Amino acid sequence: MAVRSLWVEPARPATEVEWAALETHDVFKIYRSGPTETVALRGLDLKVERGEAVAVHGRSGSGKSTFLTLAAGLDEPSAGEVRSFGRSLGRLDERELADYRAQQLAIVFQSDNLWPALTAEENIVTALRLAGRDDDARERAQASLAGFGLEKRAHQNVGTLSGGERQRVAIAAAFAREAPLVLADEPTGELDERNEEVVIESLLRLRDGGGATVVVVTHSDRVARAVDRMIELRDGRVAP
Ligand code: ADP
Ligand code: MG
Repeated sequence: MAVRSLWVEPARPATEVEWAALETHDVFKIYRSGPTETVALRGLDLKVERGEAVAVHGRSGSGKSTFLTLAAGLDEPSAGEVRSFGRSLGRLDERELADYRAQQLAIVFQSDNLWPALTAEENIVTALRLAGRDDDARERAQASLAGFGLEKRAHQNVGTLSGGERQRVAIAAAFAREAPLVLADEPTGELDERNEEVVIESLLRLRDGGGATVVVVTHSDRVARAVDRMIELRDGRVAP
């Protein structure tokens, strides 16, 4: 499937510094179900520069997953603004948001963003095609899987892979697509130490080898030690 409108960054004045990969400005998110209101984010202000690897931590319920969901354009804030590479996500229509996710973003969420009935290779090829990258998709997928030590898993349905292998397939897909912004939600949460190390190393390779900006929600001390910077969320905002 070819994507017609390829993502175009907004023009920026020559004097201005580069756009941050991700910014939130006074973002609120209120979930309403019946009479119950939950304020998940209350005035979230943060900025992640291009090429940074940042770990977001904080107690359960502090708004970490909500933040990632908004950053991915999968839901809208109740108030405030989310910007990615200078674009305000709230101003994008459905089509532009779909392009944003297909071309700018790689998502490594706990629940996976893979098609379980497709093989590892087919998953990456499909993601490349959705991003409008039909050229050499199969070769790129194979090279990326090999680069992350997954060549033996290329033709296995991802539903049959271990948790660590699935995370690595998602990371290999991000690498093949050269996604500029990678969002990961507790990617090592269910892994043993050895697999945790492999996934951390793989995530950082997206930054070092691919120039990607990496935002990873995590409780892991290992991840925390490996990244450039930590952001703590507390009650829906950045802890002072
Ligand atoms: P974290 O990822 O830091 O554990 P979340 O962003 O998942 O936190 O949740 C923040 C708060 O918002 C929690 O109180 C959670 O129960 C609530 N919440 C999250 N998603 C929803 C939803 N879809 N509907 C209602 N409440 C939600
Ligand atoms: Mg969460």
